[in-house]
Amino acid sequence: MSHYSVWSVLREGLRGQTGWERAWRDPEPKPEYDVVIIGGGGHGLATAYYLAKNHGITNVAVVEKGWLGGGNTGRNTTIVRSNYSQPSSTQFYEHSLKLWENLSHDLNYNVMFSQRGQLGLFHNPAGRDAAAKRANTMMACGIEASLLSRDEVMNMVPHLDYSENARFPILGAMLQKRAGTARHDAVAWGFARGADNYGVDILQQTEVTGILREGGMVTGVETTKGTIRAKKVGVAVAGSTGHVMRMAGIDRLPIESHKLQAFVSEPLKPLLDCVIGYGAPGAHFYISQSDKGGMVFGGDLDFYNSYAQRGNLPIVQDVAECAMAILPCLGRVKLLRHWAGIMDMSMDGTHIMTKTPVDKLYLNAGWCYGGFKATPASGWHFADLIANDRPDNLTAAFSLDRFERGLTIDEKGMGPTPKLH
Ligand SMILES: Cc1cc2nc3c(=O)[nH]c(=O)nc-3n(C[C@H](O)[C@H](O)[C@H](O)COP(=O)(O)OP(=O)(O)OC[C@H]3O[C@@H](n4cnc5c(N)ncnc54)[C@H](O)[C@@H]3O)c2cc1C
Repeated sequence: MSHYSVWSVLREGLRGQTGWERAWRDPEPKPEYDVVIIGGGGHGLATAYYLAKNHGITNVAVVEKGWLGGGNTGRNTTIVRSNYSQPSSTQFYEHSLKLWENLSHDLNYNVMFSQRGQLGLFHNPAGRDAAAKRANTMMACGIEASLLSRDEVMNMVPHLDYSENARFPILGAMLQKRAGTARHDAVAWGFARGADNYGVDILQQTEVTGILREGGMVTGVETTKGTIRAKKVGVAVAGSTGHVMRMAGIDRLPIESHKLQAFVSEPLKPLLDCVIGYGAPGAHFYISQSDKGGMVFGGDLDFYNSYAQRGNLPIVQDVAECAMAILPCLGRVKLLRHWAGIMDMSMDGTHIMTKTPVDKLYLNAGWCYGGFKATPASGWHFADLIANDRPDNLTAAFSLDRFERGLTIDEKGMGPTPKLH
């Protein structure tokens, strides 16, 4: 694999871009692997990369039914942050943020990580208390966070709606300066190229249709390209988790599949140089401006379960209202596209990274709204779980049995009800 550098860009510029190699191979499946990962999204690809890089396990296949990153990885609003309210979550996401900070160098692939800062607005005293609690939790975990007054927010982003009679009056915000955005498909491609470089087989257009077991232990997968034996199998299929785990005989999981939509406007001149989010009764909204100038934004999930990866008009209206409530200057901007991903909403709003009742079958799921930012750490720790057959310190809390033991990680303090998250 050729190394990307300023010299290779110059060299290819001079010889008409004729010397670039494929970023990853397109191999036929082998009959057997040490590890098969189901799902070629960011999490599956990162897991394969770290299995090879951190643990020297290179006889690995990533099996993807479509194209790489065609699931939620290529459909999200690309926000990366580590400002979660539960210590176990914020520490996990902080490890991810640290990996993001060096990811382009590590992968030798520009994932366009831009630490432009994220403001979480609050609109009432209860919101301020919640933000202060969250910031304190973060600081107790050694993560920098600050609370900004209304005037400080106004200095930073002057064109929000600060009027007295605004639908959601702005009282202040919590700022995480190291938060930002990244280019979503570049993350999938970068991990794919990195894993391929270690010898991992990436099998696109290969759907897993069955999971093979013998005596309570997983032994491989059935795919549309034939049977593949495996000593270990990891599942990272986001919204298809219930469907795939049923193939292994596990038919009840604390996860629901929901649609989540995202939107992009026509390109604008620079308007917003940070990420902004807010949640208030009846509203949930987050927005940033892409490097191409489009305003990229989203809101709440659709309030019904679905496997349809497409948008609908009620959510367009809802999210447009949320946008106008905070950034009225968007009123005349044209919406270019909107789309949906099938996300895996867990019952406590927190992810699941766990061994399963089937020996040597491992599950990585339940990322809800927030799995893109987790991609590097998810791959790092899931690879560790698969390689060592036990969770490490940062992942032990995210086991499946936390729901049986009453140790849920209730990120938003709203109980195990997905429709309230
Ligand atoms: C609209 C939207 C906005 C979002 N915004 C953000 C955000 O701003 N920040 C953030 O951190 N997170 C965000 N998320 C969440 C984030 O995108 C996901 O949590 C994350 O990308 C999940 O990655 P993944 O690799 O687990 O899943 P995916 O990328 O969905 O990959 C799973 C893959 O499994 C494949 N698969 C499924 N079944 C099979 C099978 N039987 N055989 C083989 N392959 C199979 C699918 O084709 C898919 O490619 C958002 C999600 C959506 C939908």
